[in-house]
Amino acid sequence: MMKAGEMTAIKAILVMGVLTLLLLWLLAEGLRYGLERRPKESVAASKTPSLFDGQRAYRDLETIVGMGPRPSGSEALDQLREFVKTELTKAGLNVWEHRFEAETPIGVLPMVNVVAKTEGTKPGVIILGNHYETKHFPEFTFVGANDGGSTTAWMLEMARAVGPKREGRSVWLCFFDGEEAFKEWSATDSLYGSRAFVAHLKESGRFSEIRAMINVDMIGDCYLGITRDTDAPEWLNQRIWRNARALGYGSHFLRASRSIEDDHVPFRTAGIPAIDIIDFCYGANRLEHEQNWHTANDTLERVCAESLQVVGDVIYHSLTDIDAYLNKLARN
Ligand SMILES: [Zn+2]
Repeated sequence: MMKAGEMTAIKAILVMGVLTLLLLWLLAEGLRYGLERRPKESVAASKTPSLFDGQRAYRDLETIVGMGPRPSGSEALDQLREFVKTELTKAGLNVWEHRFEAETPIGVLPMVNVVAKTEGTKPGVIILGNHYETKHFPEFTFVGANDGGSTTAWMLEMARAVGPKREGRSVWLCFFDGEEAFKEWSATDSLYGSRAFVAHLKESGRFSEIRAMINVDMIGDCYLGITRDTDAPEWLNQRIWRNARALGYGSHFLRASRSIEDDHVPFRTAGIPAIDIIDFCYGANRLEHEQNWHTANDTLERVCAESLQVVGDVIYHSLTDIDAYLNKLARN
């Protein structure tokens, strides 16, 4: 027989022993998990400098907007294309043009996609896409500082930031022509450039190289708020949003999600993991959006270099994580 006091002491020692063992086991597991996971799926650490320069992108945007309205088939779009090709070549990237004719409600138009290539060390391609033309509005002056302009300047700066070679998959920067509808948005009156490009890749046998597609649209809004893409694979949403949080940009990458038709759709329809990075609330609220989107108000004063920087940093770092995820897929 033992005294009650001795019993309590032994119980306490036993409980402490079990708790200590449990703690040690948890520590060991945590360490093992950390060692296994971290190198595979690292998230960019906060305040990691990115080579993307939002101010430089904004200066390009001023040049682009200075060219005036740039609808498909216009001289201004020819001028912009020359500027884009010159800047991409200066950045050391290989550039080629994909020319085609598009049957639009206003007639057959010559269109040109511009593609710049960063050579990767691994097989496979990640596409970054945008549209570089502005919507056809013959009745008023539409310079598309945000819609068409912001992403074109952003893509040029991304080309400089990523450079001609990178560790990981090749990146193709695709500047699509003819994203906008001429009359009413429909399956046949929209996305002329991206649809033609996917068809071209299939015909040329290169489609199987494409592993993922990120499209950017309207990312220059001074009131930047990017919604999650409802239809994108969760792993793509997660990697981009995780980087935004890690970089301290969580307030610009919202919890809300939305589904939008844009140049990523032809890729997604063809089975490629694709996501649209878009701020479809141009201005401080919905009322301002109605006043700014596809109107003469889409001008430079509503677009901010800081917004281009935020999306630049996030996508720049996300490319590394997307590569890591694709590596894991390839191994399994
Ligand atoms: Zn538009």
